[in-house]
Amino acid sequence: MKRKWVPTCPDCGSSNIIFEAGMVTGQKYHCLNCGYVGAVALEVEIETE
Ligand SMILES: [Zn+2]
Repeated sequence: MKRKWVPTCPDCGSSNIIFEAGMVTGQKYHCLNCGYVGAVALEVEIETE
């Protein structure tokens, strides 16, 4: 059993979220599920086998 931290969307809770390194705006997260863009993502711990 391994543990892993994954970012999830604070809006919809989806883990379908990517980290973007912007040039002017800085680093941000982009949710591919609901379109949320922001500097904050919820990190949740999941267990994988
Ligand atoms: Zn979302």
